[in-house]
Amino acid sequence: MAIDDESPLRVNIRGGAMGGGQCEGAENQRWPPWLKPLLETSFFGQCKVHADSHKSECNMYCLDCMNGALCSQCLSYHRDHHAIQVTISSSTLALD
Ligand SMILES: [Zn+2]
Ligand SMILES: [Zn+2]
Repeated sequence: MAIDDESPLRVNIRGGAMGGGQCEGAENQRWPPWLKPLLETSFFGQCKVHADSHKSECNMYCLDCMNGALCSQCLSYHRDHHAIQVTISSSTLALD
């Protein structure tokens, strides 16, 4: 599904992040509860927790915790959670 929005972010749902509720009528679905906090999160900064890491850019987001941007190392604490990766795209936020 795609959202008509000014946000330049693109969200790639990693395997199974949407749970079992996927259906073809995605346009009619209500936005998930994590969408708004996700859009208010600023990504691609350096992780405060893992500032000394080379791969500490925060481009992940945990849909269960909704606690802000996460780097790949942060994500290891959310292994059993539903996490998504955020990438910059042209002008539309899309949930694949
Ligand atoms: Zn989590
Ligand atoms: Zn981190």
